[in-house]
Amino acid sequence: MEVVERQFQVLDNEPVYKQCTHCGAPIQLPDSQSPEAREGTLWSDAYLEVRDSSEPQMLGKCGACGAIGCLAELPAMKEATPLAGGTDHAFEPLTVDDYAVLVDNLEAISAPFHSYLRIRFWQLSNERRRGADVPLPLTAVERANLVELLKLLGEAPADRLMKAQGLRQLEDFEAAEAVLTEPFDAQLSPIIERLRRLGRDRDVRLVKVFSGDPRQAAALVSI
Ligand SMILES: [Zn+2]
Repeated sequence: MEVVERQFQVLDNEPVYKQCTHCGAPIQLPDSQSPEAREGTLWSDAYLEVRDSSEPQMLGKCGACGAIGCLAELPAMKEATPLAGGTDHAFEPLTVDDYAVLVDNLEAISAPFHSYLRIRFWQLSNERRRGADVPLPLTAVERANLVELLKLLGEAPADRLMKAQGLRQLEDFEAAEAVLTEPFDAQLSPIIERLRRLGRDRDVRLVKVFSGDPRQAAALVSI
């Protein structure tokens, strides 16, 4: 019975509130459900673009004071309802400039979020490169972030795909090829072949590696 009630609470879509540790304001968490999403695009830096859907953010800004926090670490509001007077504040997404500052001030963010932070900054700063005809060189901050990110990535398929893209962007084509030479799940074979070709052509550009059902796109990087 309790389980059923909980399911109904989810269906009711009650807003969830956490509390800013800096100013104490109630922060309304974004609705993570995206029932409208029909098409997802997976890019070669493992960025999953889902049309008409905002992606869940792990790091964000308090809408009241602008303090940056980690979603998982914000305490829940003690009151069942937010403070009166229409003082709801959203958990605002960070901009690429926010991330650029954070990658140079890592002590502001808990260690478990560092790789997320570096991946997000890389993917966000790649926005201007998506679909661009000409390769856009990395800025000094982007390059430094990418070099550090590569050290944090492991051996999971998604990590290796990110490594291959990152190494191509750093123009280390031999290392990118080496990352892609180790066997991958057969489902990823067409993607791997394409990425290897790009490396052989010394092409640093980002490419779309999958378009279609967003769940399928997400599954590809979680194999
Ligand atoms: Zn605040």
